[in-house]
Amino acid sequence: MTAQIIDGKIISAELRGKVAEEVARVVRDHGVTPGLAVVLVGSDPASEVYVRSKHKQTKEAGMASFEHRLPAEVPQAELLALIAKLNADPAVHGILVQLPLPKGLDSNAVIDAIDPAKDVDGLNPVNAGRLASGLFALTPCTPLGCIIMAKQVHASLQGMNAIVIGRSNLVGKPLVQLLLNENATVTIAHSRSRDLPALCRQADLVFAAVGKPEMVKGSWIKPGATVIDVGINRTPSPDGGKDKLVGDVAFAEAKEVAGAITPVPGGVGLMTVACLLVNTLRAACAIHGLPKPGV
Ligand code: NAP
Repeated sequence: MTAQIIDGKIISAELRGKVAEEVARVVRDHGVTPGLAVVLVGSDPASEVYVRSKHKQTKEAGMASFEHRLPAEVPQAELLALIAKLNADPAVHGILVQLPLPKGLDSNAVIDAIDPAKDVDGLNPVNAGRLASGLFALTPCTPLGCIIMAKQVHASLQGMNAIVIGRSNLVGKPLVQLLLNENATVTIAHSRSRDLPALCRQADLVFAAVGKPEMVKGSWIKPGATVIDVGINRTPSPDGGKDKLVGDVAFAEAKEVAGAITPVPGGVGLMTVACLLVNTLRAACAIHGLPKPGV
């Protein structure tokens, strides 16, 4: 049996379409244009690509997009002053500072400085705490995308055994909270977990967010399980050509055992920006006291 491929291209396009419809409704009925400000410090080539893609997709969804570029040597105080300005700007409903920041800048202080109501990356401790308490929170975009993908296969995750491999603040921990909110039974594994293959084989849902190319083998997967691969790892091409992108799951093996699986590229990565648009729309509605949007 070969697994169903959970196609990030199709699912993210549908989600962006729904966001665009909701944005048009909010603009028409309430005169509110959701606005996203992206701050890029330095000129990391991967970050440049992400920022361009965010700008394009924000505009396509009918939102306002603001880009702020600062040199890598910018003093911390100047970066914090820009955040304070964006916090106070009524046209801005979402603020995203592209991470990682260049050396010498304190990303925790920057995340803390973002108004939690505009924290569309969901990394501010206020949002992390609200999520853990089961309250309305802006939630990190990649875990949100993972849940949407799992729900393409299972209308309800209730009672399912899920394993999340990785416990970062960006992916693993918020994903665990979101799965608990879905009433899944969750195991969280990390670099010190014992017998990871055995833990993995018990799971109906496997979420791999490790950053190790193809670490999760086909033999670790319970037959029929749903596998969501968050990993994005650049590996040298065997023929010396362009680097290859691979996930944290050995896709070729795992797809022969799993019931459904996300590919890399073309999986979770495409959901992240779509979920950023969702968060910006949700933030704009919450800031203006409007009902929660339909996405
Ligand atoms: P991270 O901060 O480096 O965290 C990695 C986690 O994996 C840590 O909790 C670590 O455990 C755990 N780990 C490392 N080696 C392990 C092992 N051998 N066995 C079990 N667990 C192990 O990474 P991240 O930011 O969460 O990102 C994870 C992956 O997702 C990366 O490939 C990244 O590029 C990708 N990513 C993709 C998107 C997207 O849009 N698709 C977004 C964000 C990240 P300890 O805590 O014990 O060290």
